[in-house]
Order: sequence, then C-alpha cells, then structure tokens
Amino acid sequence: MVDGLRGLYPFDERVLAAMASVPRHLFVETALAPLAYSNKPLRIAANQTISQPYTVAMQTHLLQVRKWDKILEIGTGCGYQAAILVKMGAQVHSIERQKELYVQAQKTFLALGMDAIFSYGDGYEGWPLLAPFDRIVVTCGAPAIPQKLVLQLAVGGRMVVPVGNDTQTMTVVERLSDDQCQITTHGNYRFVPMLEGKETNAPFGDQRF
Ligand code: SAH
Repeated sequence: MVDGLRGLYPFDERVLAAMASVPRHLFVETALAPLAYSNKPLRIAANQTISQPYTVAMQTHLLQVRKWDKILEIGTGCGYQAAILVKMGAQVHSIERQKELYVQAQKTFLALGMDAIFSYGDGYEGWPLLAPFDRIVVTCGAPAIPQKLVLQLAVGGRMVVPVGNDTQTMTVVERLSDDQCQITTHGNYRFVPMLEGKETNAPFGDQRF
C-alpha cells in the first residue's frame, strides 16, 4: 500500500512509515479485510466511510505533524487516521458524533495497545477545555471553515479541513497571530458530510458507556 502511495505523490516519509506500521485491516469489518490495503475508501458502521489511504496520507502530510503535537481530530470514524497520528508521536484527541463508532474505535485502540483520548460529541464545538491545539484535522466535509475550531488553534498552529458540500476543497488554515490566518487550498476530494449535533438514534443510544 505504502509503495503505491509513494508513487503517487512525494509524501513525507514519516507519514508513510506511520501508515506502514498500522494494520488497516483491523479497523474495518472482517468481510472487508481483504480490501484494506487497496487505495479505496471502505464502508464502516453507521453508514460512514473510512477515507482511502491516499486521502489519509495527504491530510496527514498537509498537517505537518511534529512529535508531541497536541492534535484534535474531528470525525473519529474507525480510528485509523487517529492511529496514524499517534504513530507519529502526537497526543491525539478525537471527537465523533456517532456513538457506535466512538465505542468501536476505543475497542480497536485497546486491542492494539494504542492511546488516544476520545469524545462522543459535536465536532463543530471543538474541545474548548483542552484548547489550544497545535494541529486540527477534520475528516468530514465541512460546508465552511468551522470558526470555533479556528479559535481553538494555537498561534502558529495549522488545521486541515475539507470544505464544501458535494465535493470538498482540501483547505489548510494556518493561524499566524491572534487575528490573522493564512488559507491555502490543495485539490478536491469527497468526504461524508460534517453534520451538526450528536447522533442520538444510534443503536446503542440508550446504553451508557
Ligand atoms: N478519520 C476517520 C474518517 C471517518 S469518516 C477514519 O479514519 O476512519 C468521518 C466521520 O466524521 C464519520 O464517522 C462521521 O460520523 C463524523 N462526523 C461527521 N460530522 C461530525 C461532527 N459534527 N462531529 C464529530 N464527528 C462528525
């Protein structure tokens, strides 16, 4: 998988090394495991998808992760992107609005002996108690740059967020000072939408975790 990615774009080798070290097949259901290392998005629970490896590599590359960075991820999904960030030495905090995915990602992390901090909530709110973050990565398509997240970026920090409705433009927001940001764009992608509020109709909705 990683050799294939290397041929497509000059990704940061640290990103590719992290991707080579995470068993992607353990993040998807058994029936899809044979497809786990092809460059395809895969279906996960709650009608969501895990991004194709190229997209994960690109978001991670654009994020310019440094060891010990405090990172906020919006859209835990199956936890694969979070695992890549952990392997790069970051402290990862990840928010998911679907309880089923929030629970499953933690089980996968436990099984792999990996550590991150997970929250079941609405990513539009960010995580004000833990802000500021050095890096923020949004793994669902936001209709516009989420302003509360920009405010939770440290000065000097960077956010990678796909912006748009039907298709999204990969957008990097660098916070240059308290009141100044620089925005650059990096091609078009297709993500599941970033939705408002937590999903409360999930199958586990009435149970406590
Ligand atoms: N990073 C994930 C990709 C999951 S797909 C992975 O590696 O598997 C995007 C996820 O964003 C979905 O699970 C979806 O439920 C979640 N999502 C959408 N809107 C959200 C919001 N407002 N807050 C938190 N998560 C959200």
